[in-house]
Formats: sequence, structure tokens, C-alpha cells
Amino acid sequence: MSAERTVIGVDIGGTKIAAALLRGRLPSISAGTPAARETPVILDRYTVLTDAHSMRACLDGIVTCIADLEHGSGRVEGIGVGVASMVDFAAGHVVESVNLPLVDVPLRDLLQRRFGVPVVIDNDATAATIGEHVFGAGAGAREMLMLTLGTGVGGGIICGGRPYRGCSGAAAELGHIIIDVNGLKCPANCPNRGCLEAYVAGPAMAAAAAAAAVAEPASALGRALTAGRAVDSRLLTRLGREGDAGAVAVLARLGEYLGAGLVTLVNIFNPEVIVIGGGAAEAGELLLGPARGVLQARGSRPARDQVRIVPAALGPDAGFIGAAALALTELFPDDAQRAS
Ligand SMILES: [Zn+2]
Repeated sequence: MSAERTVIGVDIGGTKIAAALLRGRLPSISAGTPAARETPVILDRYTVLTDAHSMRACLDGIVTCIADLEHGSGRVEGIGVGVASMVDFAAGHVVESVNLPLVDVPLRDLLQRRFGVPVVIDNDATAATIGEHVFGAGAGAREMLMLTLGTGVGGGIICGGRPYRGCSGAAAELGHIIIDVNGLKCPANCPNRGCLEAYVAGPAMAAAAAAAAVAEPASALGRALTAGRAVDSRLLTRLGREGDAGAVAVLARLGEYLGAGLVTLVNIFNPEVIVIGGGAAEAGELLLGPARGVLQARGSRPARDQVRIVPAALGPDAGFIGAAALALTELFPDDAQRAS
């Protein structure tokens, strides 16, 4: 058994900062069975809305979250932070952000000085990937990818059992692979067209649902639009789960776009497993089934037959659990080796 550690995991997103005090241990390297992998226990949690008005206000929110969890616990051994930004992992720097007022911030050193324990920071999608790799749906895999379908499409790569970050930390932008060379303008801060993100992120799902509602006013989506209700990815998912044919058809088409992206990823990486997470992926098999169909029809052998396409396992707490997994793996790497 590896040592149990008490760490704080912090997930910094454009709308909220979610943090938790957790107690957990790395699975031993020889442990491949799910029973040997215990998800960390959440001892306490704290969430604040992200104050995006200034860098100072945003940093104050981060420090407040951690200070509240640390207060009185007296036993925090390390802090892991996943941030929705481009991160220079080795330097512990937030390089730039789209939805946060954090540019060129030495966040790791700043938090280490303030709290006096080791800190590690990483891109949030990579932290989520590490969480699913250590404790979730990718447990035991040496070659794994993750796509997080949310406001955008986040990506993460586990290569040879380790996170792959590229030469400057900018790797794994899997949401920006092209699925249509003359396609839709990418909605993110990206000069590309036809990116996967333009087709399967939450806003793209909402746009597809709204278009279907306009085209078929008598459908459940159409009636919702006429009634002035929000026609978004949440409604689309709910109607799909209830078996509404129109919603199921829209989700199937979105799943096929996802499948087109998976073809490229599988052909390049030959992963054992691709984990699909994020709020916009809650339709589950209604998206993943059609995606697997496209992968089977258009992916190359043998990679297409070897990969498993699975939903994420860690649920709505995946952000800070991923940040805690980041802390356990990066700050205490000898723990897994010592385990027997
Ligand atoms: Zn793009």
C-alpha cells in the first residue's frame, strides 16, 4: 500500500473555482484491478464564482478557496491546481488565458510562498485526464486520451503511462483537430476552421438543437423554442434520454462528428482507451454509440478494433479530483514505486 496523503485540489475555470481537501493514495503500480483503486475521500470542499474583472481579484479568489480548506486542518501535504489556461508546466507559470484574467503569472511559486507546501499547476484538461487515468475510466491504461466536452473541447494525452505536454506545455489541444477543412469558424481563440470543437462543444450542441427546432416546429425541440424555453445542450440531452426521436437524431449527428474526430486520434495515437467527459457529454451512449459507428467504418485497423471509447467516471467533481491526482503523482512520485 502506498502512503495516504492529504492534499488540496483546485479547479480554476472561467465561471467558478472549485476546490477540495482530499485524502487519498496512489494505486500501486502492480494494481490493475478496479478494486485496488480508491477514489480520494473528499474531507471538505469550497467553491467560489470566478472574479474575472482583474488578475488581483481572480488570484484573491484562488487564495481564499485554499485558505478556507487549509484553515485548521494543519496537515495539508501538497496542492494541485488545474487551470483553464495555457500553462508552462516546468516553470509553474500560467502563460495566457482566454476566459480568465491570468497572463504570465508565476502561480506555483506564488501559492508555495503563501501556503508553505509544495504546489504543482497544470492545464485543467490535462489534470482531468490524470484524474481519470489514476482513479477513473482510464485506470490501468498506458496509452490513453481524454476529450472533455464543455464550453469548448479540452484534450489530454497519457503516453507510456505519463502525461504528454509537448515542448512548451501547449500539446493535447485535441479539440482543434480539423474534421472539415472548409467548415465552421472555430469559436475559440483559434484561427482555424472546421475544428472538432466547432461541432461537438456545448454551444455547438445548442446551435444544432436550435436549428432542428426551427426546421421542425411541431417537434419537442420546436415546441420548446415556441414556448420561449432555453433550447440548449441540457434540453437536447434530456429529450434524447426520454427517447424523443428528433433529439436522438440530433445527438446521433453530433456523435458522428465526434466519431470523425476519434478516427484521426485513433489513427495517430493507437490508444487503449479514449475517455469522453464534460457536461456536454451527458447524453452518453446517444453520442458515443454513433461515434463508435463512424470509428468502425472509417478508422484504420488494428487501432480502431483495439480502442475502447468510454464515458468519464469521476462525474462533476472530476476537476478537483484531477487536480488532487496531479498533486499525488507529481509531488509524491515515489509513493507508487514504494507500494507493493
Ligand atoms: Zn480551433
